[in-house]
Amino acid sequence: MKRLSALVIVVFLLAMVPAFHPVGATQTDLSGYTICVDAGHGGTDPGAVANGVEEKDINLAIALKVAKLLEEDGAKVVLTRDGDYYVSLSDRVSIANSAGCDIFISIHANAASDTSASGFEVYHYYGSTKGNLLATYVDEEIAKEIPLKNRGVKEAGFYVIKYTTMPAILIETGFVTNTYDVSIITDENYQWKYAYAILHGVQRYFGVPVHDPVPTVTGIRFAQHDGYFRVVLDVSQNTSYETFYYYYGYYVVVEVPNAKLADLGWSTDGDWQYTSTGSSTVPYIYATEYNGTVYVVLELNTPYAKYSAFTLSDPYRIVVDVYS
Ligand code: ZN
Repeated sequence: MKRLSALVIVVFLLAMVPAFHPVGATQTDLSGYTICVDAGHGGTDPGAVANGVEEKDINLAIALKVAKLLEEDGAKVVLTRDGDYYVSLSDRVSIANSAGCDIFISIHANAASDTSASGFEVYHYYGSTKGNLLATYVDEEIAKEIPLKNRGVKEAGFYVIKYTTMPAILIETGFVTNTYDVSIITDENYQWKYAYAILHGVQRYFGVPVHDPVPTVTGIRFAQHDGYFRVVLDVSQNTSYETFYYYYGYYVVVEVPNAKLADLGWSTDGDWQYTSTGSSTVPYIYATEYNGTVYVVLELNTPYAKYSAFTLSDPYRIVVDVYS
């Protein structure tokens, strides 16, 4: 059996999947958008303090989760702060304006002398039509996820939503002065629910179908070790995958459904990216994304060479060791 050339494997693998390429499809994720996420307060400015919590910590915890999901969905995210330090209001505005952000999302928690005051609300600047639209979508999505009273969309003249030049909202996630609200806004699972709700509201604002981020194979690394050749797929989030031999055992295919493939910086041939490895165990690796499935193909020097596949978490990686 003669070894297949790169071109032949391309043809064979393309036959595995429906030969249909959407042309001129509408945008399906947030790629191309720049979004400013503003965690209120920070450093010497704790924001509201009550019930043993400081507002700045809640704001940052939610903002970082929002940023992660927006990035996983393709957006470029600009954070006004990514840690516990002080940033002035004018600096926050400058960061957003100079980065040319498309929208601005400020995250805060509320406080009131009446400890029974409870719930979330979303502000936009007075009379801002686009701000109102963004605020409405985000408010509606939070209401689906968070078991707190929806205090609704409101107008205000807060500095950061007044002086930013893009549509801007300020979310009050709940009251630090209310013990039930605190139990929600400090809970990591609920913080993720806020983040997903904000993502979905942003998707609606930009006319993108509401969805959770699709896992992306962001990189493929490899190295020859003593007795085995290791291939590592870096994936943006946990996902399922399958591995199988293909074409008389000359190839091991890693199939990652419902995933996207980043530009690996490899050589390209049509829809495929490929690289030589310098290893005699796996001389070539090919990768492509087709109809929402990522295929990574390891060319074997020895048909049916033994391999093992497993995953590592945080960050999520799919590892395939091919034994030589
Ligand atoms: Zn605040």
